[in-house]
Amino acid sequence: MIPFAPPRIDQAIIDEVVAALKSGWITTGPRTKEFEKRLTAYCGNKSTLCLNSATAGLEIMLRWFGVGEGDEVILPAYTYSATANVVVHCGARPVLVDIGSDFNMNVANIKAAVTSKTKVIMPVDFAGLPCDYDAVLNVVNDPAVKNLFIAAAPVQSQLGRILILSDAAHSVGANYKNKKTGALTDVSVFSFHAVKNLTTAEGGAIALNLPEPFDNDEVYKFLCVYTLHGQNKDALAKMQKGNWKYDIIEAGYKCNMTDLCAAIGLVELARYDNDMLVKRKLICDTYFNYFKQFDWSELPVLKDTSRETSYHLFPLRIKGITESMRDEIMKRIFDKDVSVNVHFIPLPMLSYYKNMGFNISDYPVAYDTFAREITLPVFYDLTEEQLKMVCNAVQEAVSSVLQEVVNH
Ligand SMILES: *Cc1c(COP(=O)(O)O)cnc(C)c1O
Repeated sequence: MIPFAPPRIDQAIIDEVVAALKSGWITTGPRTKEFEKRLTAYCGNKSTLCLNSATAGLEIMLRWFGVGEGDEVILPAYTYSATANVVVHCGARPVLVDIGSDFNMNVANIKAAVTSKTKVIMPVDFAGLPCDYDAVLNVVNDPAVKNLFIAAAPVQSQLGRILILSDAAHSVGANYKNKKTGALTDVSVFSFHAVKNLTTAEGGAIALNLPEPFDNDEVYKFLCVYTLHGQNKDALAKMQKGNWKYDIIEAGYKCNMTDLCAAIGLVELARYDNDMLVKRKLICDTYFNYFKQFDWSELPVLKDTSRETSYHLFPLRIKGITESMRDEIMKRIFDKDVSVNVHFIPLPMLSYYKNMGFNISDYPVAYDTFAREITLPVFYDLTEEQLKMVCNAVQEAVSSVLQEVVNH
């Protein structure tokens, strides 16, 4: 069976984790701090805080911005549930908007969804392709939109507009107008979950890139405390001789990254551009060049004039099929021992969000995309032979299902 997205675990990763274990320091410490510095240098943003997940990072930033009861947060209907769940955790209302043909939120839909209750927009860089951040920034800076904004917390007054909080779970290393994700908007949150491009087993990071007058280093320092019980000294600082006293200045959260996880991340990041991304691009380009010969294929944007994906997912769409035909095609692909997936089941089709009153018929592009989408395996250790097997399995499954429709 060809798996879908196993992590790359080789001797270099194992050695660094063992070194972290032997160092005697396993929780947040020197390796996490080093990983944060290297991430900031890599992305070109202003400051970075590592946490135990992207979900925690998104929720922490909503809470930092003072999002709560009565507020609205705009996000795409076509994303993983984490993007919306964190809004619900804060007591605010998720406002779902439909996507465009590139899987990302349609900017005209964002603008139409803004109200005086909107506090945050959460774009998702689907499959690793950055959203059009200049266009999103134009929305929040539009005088009419700015006039609607009601600042209800000191940080909201400081920003003076809607916050753009990017769910960049897929897009570490992607480019938009010659800048990397992390440096594209106010705040971006990365995921280092086991299936993501750059993994720490579980993990995430908040890439701060707030405009003037914010001091991003000060925000970083606050967030360190806020994500560790509100305690004014971390475990490492308390280890200093005689430095045992601490204070609690906030009823803080607990979602710090461990040095064991950071050890994996340090190895992953060091070889990310020159090794991981090269391999992922090769796999995606191979799929692209193979499937473009079939008139039934609708290929994802990997690169255009302003942006390039991080090659996280290869979301293939099949033209003119129904949801049940897609399911049958997937079954036949699995029968050939190839794992495929669907990204994502739109939020309005999931029980919790359906019960909240969302209806998939209000999101025609999200539904059409979901119904015709199949995500192909992309991972470092995928061999050339396996790549051919995937191409053949998909081609045969699609052709046979389309042929049966013609014959009926
Ligand atoms: C994986 C993922 C997340 C959640 O990341 P975690 O690190 O598991 O919390 C959020 N949003 C999207 C779009 C994702 O794919």
